[in-house]
Amino acid sequence: MRHLATATSHWKARAACFVVGLPALLVAACSLPIASESELESESARQFQEMRAQIPASTDVRTRAYINCVSAAIVQQLEKPYSDKDWDAEVFESEDINAFAMPGGRIGVYTGILGVAENQDQLAAVIGHEVAHVTQQHSLKRVNREMTTRAGVIAGTAVLGGGYGVGDVLSMGAQLGLSLPFSRANESEADTVGLNYMAAAGFKPTESIQLWKNMARKNKLGPPQFLSTHPSGDNRIQDLVKQLPEALKLYNAAQASGRQPNCQK
Ligand SMILES: [Zn+2]
Repeated sequence: MRHLATATSHWKARAACFVVGLPALLVAACSLPIASESELESESARQFQEMRAQIPASTDVRTRAYINCVSAAIVQQLEKPYSDKDWDAEVFESEDINAFAMPGGRIGVYTGILGVAENQDQLAAVIGHEVAHVTQQHSLKRVNREMTTRAGVIAGTAVLGGGYGVGDVLSMGAQLGLSLPFSRANESEADTVGLNYMAAAGFKPTESIQLWKNMARKNKLGPPQFLSTHPSGDNRIQDLVKQLPEALKLYNAAQASGRQPNCQK
């Protein structure tokens, strides 16, 4: 998501600091800025629009239909309130191996990832993983962590006579919150939750293993952008294998109730 880092922000989170005596006490004296999910959704909408203006959309009707088909099957499996969002998927024409989902219901897939996600089930593994980052509020938690850190820095800068405003820092926090790599803990959680989404949608969960093997093979040739924002622990594949029995139950139930996606590449 490197394109997002250049975005300017109109972030409007709340923060107030009271300058007190010792710098060590300054952080405690701040009412820490807390962003809400709806604020992050507005910021995401703005950044998504900016990406659409910067990166060409694929004009290949078949590819667009394929990616929309997989995305739609996944989002039908989300819990509320995420299932109620008006999910919007964009297909970016780019060789970059990348994909993302943003708060508010936005999915971006770069055509380059189709060389790694080789079939509908592997693409569902990617999209399930991305959407899980949203439903587990990973960006929101990270934005708030960034803001908290930076509000502390600002308080110190104010005492030292620096020229930054709290608004500048919060804007930086929002941008970084949407563009920094996820933590490994967040990655594991997105793997687990995403695996369940894809299986419940009727995609073969075993294909998630092949996806990550493909990704590792590409990584040897030069790291895909996707892996720079989604750092993997060494045991990602082993962890997924352990979770397969549960995911296969969801898959079998999906198949039995007629959820058998057939998205054509
Ligand atoms: Zn991830």
